[in-house]
Amino acid sequence: MSEYIVKPGVINLQREGEKLITTHCSYCGMQCGMHIRVSERTGEIKGVEPRYDWPVTLGKLCPKGVTAYQQIDHPDRIKRPLIKKNGEFVESSWDEALSLIERKFTELQEKHGKDSLSVFGGVSMTNEKCYLVGKYARVALGTRFIDYNGRFCMSSAAGGFNQTFGLDRGSTLPWTELEHSDCFLIAGSNTAECHPTSIQMFWKARDKGAKMIVVDPRETPTARIADVHLDLKPGTDSALANGLLHLIIKEGYVDQKYVDERCNNYEELKASVEAFTPEYTASLTGVDKEKIIKAAHIFGQSPRSVVMFARGVEQQSKGVDNVTLYSSLALLRGQIGKFASGVATFTGQGNGQGGREHGQKSDLLPGYRKLTDPEAVKYISKVWGIKPEDMPKPGVSAYEMFDEIHNGTIKAMHVICSNPAVSSPNVEYAWEAFKRLDFLVVNDFFLSETAEFADVVLPTTTWAEDEGTTTNLEGRVIHIRKAIEPLHESKTDWEIFGEIAKRLGKGKHFDYKNPREIFEEFRIATKGGKADYSGITYERIDKEDGVFWPCPSEDHPGTPTIFKDKFSTPDGKANLPAVAWKEPGEIPTKEFPLRLTTGRVVYHYLSGNQTRRIDFLMEQCPVPYAEMHPELASQYNMRDGEMIKLSTPRSSMELEVKLTKATRNDIVFVPYHWGKELSVNKLTNPSLDPISRMPEFKVCSAKIEKLKKNA
Ligand code: SF4
Repeated sequence: MSEYIVKPGVINLQREGEKLITTHCSYCGMQCGMHIRVSERTGEIKGVEPRYDWPVTLGKLCPKGVTAYQQIDHPDRIKRPLIKKNGEFVESSWDEALSLIERKFTELQEKHGKDSLSVFGGVSMTNEKCYLVGKYARVALGTRFIDYNGRFCMSSAAGGFNQTFGLDRGSTLPWTELEHSDCFLIAGSNTAECHPTSIQMFWKARDKGAKMIVVDPRETPTARIADVHLDLKPGTDSALANGLLHLIIKEGYVDQKYVDERCNNYEELKASVEAFTPEYTASLTGVDKEKIIKAAHIFGQSPRSVVMFARGVEQQSKGVDNVTLYSSLALLRGQIGKFASGVATFTGQGNGQGGREHGQKSDLLPGYRKLTDPEAVKYISKVWGIKPEDMPKPGVSAYEMFDEIHNGTIKAMHVICSNPAVSSPNVEYAWEAFKRLDFLVVNDFFLSETAEFADVVLPTTTWAEDEGTTTNLEGRVIHIRKAIEPLHESKTDWEIFGEIAKRLGKGKHFDYKNPREIFEEFRIATKGGKADYSGITYERIDKEDGVFWPCPSEDHPGTPTIFKDKFSTPDGKANLPAVAWKEPGEIPTKEFPLRLTTGRVVYHYLSGNQTRRIDFLMEQCPVPYAEMHPELASQYNMRDGEMIKLSTPRSSMELEVKLTKATRNDIVFVPYHWGKELSVNKLTNPSLDPISRMPEFKVCSAKIEKLKKNA
């Protein structure tokens, strides 16, 4: 079925009676190298081993990775299609479920038009499937309403990179170079918990003297090892970044030759940060001014530096502004396109990079082509065998699709590999939307909170039951191998798209025998686009330990370091946007005097639909909690372990208090991996970034009350 890849000198993990399938973890963008152990006699999954010769993660896996195999034959797997009858799910045949979908989709489109259907995609799938989600929505269903869960994850990074560099690739450098860097400025990333296997790279660099600056309201395990921890108020990143830019300019740390030759708008940026003295920046952010000054000197004096950020910076209504400003820090220091230097974002979902490039976004076609570009529409229409005039127009972003359900435009939705009933902001609004739909179809291998709202649930395969490619957080395209045949009656998502398309009379556009055939079409679809994969083959990926896009021909080496000579803007120069300071969408008031921020813990992955079913992970972290500083708790006479009511202008929930001095004394932090009454996204603010349409998950105003029963 596949080969066990091991390089000379690397420990041999082969055991008698078992085969080892070389692949990657199913969860985050690190895509750690692993082997899945499979019994040769029974075909059962026996466990996983780290892949010591995978150059990015060198034999490391986190608690999620070492237990990932337990989801494959988990008893909660959906074994057959489910149809809701009289409010209860009943198992059905594939034919019955698909016939119902065909009938309902056809009826709704005949009555209400093509755009009465919608698709909500996800980026934990392979490139082949993510590519087909866009094609399925636009060709099989013919709807303009498609968007995906990456809108809640990577969209501000994408928006910021496009503005600054003219291209959204999550890392400008290969992460194998990180150990040679001299300085890391890490903003809004709890790296040690969210991307744990990357920490070894920072430690290697630290052993050689590298410095670390961490920007975070909490003293996370990452902040604890930093030289400087800038503990800002949530939502004040643009003020802090402007303050750091001010000091880099004032203290003479600008690489003027690089800026003159490779950047536009420097004078405007310089003028806009003039007011951001350390005192003013400290007053806005709540960070001690001496720490801001120290951080600027460390960053400014480092020959090779990497600016890195994640959702803490991006999941704000000014997320794109934040990304452009942090990127400008690297540009002023002349750090992009050079060895062991650059800018990178920590991609959340496994294929958060590849999954956002190829047509799941409401306004994009494969290869980062724009739906508003007639030439792009013409090219992709030809690849797909449709008329350009039949290509649907751009739709709306993920959260805005719920508006379209509430206003009656969207009547049905097909949710694919996503759990927006947990991951949406102001999530009760999403729940109401699902209830209003005439028809909801969900593809998943577990009955997620979203699937519970569905009329039909289609059982899909896990990552170990199908082949394909993903693109890791570096921009490296890698190979996911099939370890076992699909369990129970599950089907792959690409087979499901083909079955539905056939029933809707569009089968000829989805006639694939395997993922490699999809990949061959996908290569053509990306050719000439900004995210060009046309030179990448499965064989090259295996031989070269992955291939970095852009890779426009089979004799092109791929692009580990991007923007070496020029940026992807029309004139080849990077932009340095001047960004005015703006408060977050909500600031503390008399009624809601605190700031709520949300995030992840090491034991869970995103909406928790997978990790909440793994016993070991649940034992470590079974429920969400309200983390707060003892000084804040004492003002409310609250003690560790007591239950409180946490409220925002949208809703409230009950949580156990967890006291720690490792957080600001004016915020409450709650992890977000749970659904229903345990969902902190009942409280979060749907205020959207004007460019990326990213909701403001990371800050809103809040209040806490001690529950009487604990008095
Ligand atoms: Fe690696 Fe991420 Fe999987 Fe952990 S969850 S093993 S860091 S890919």
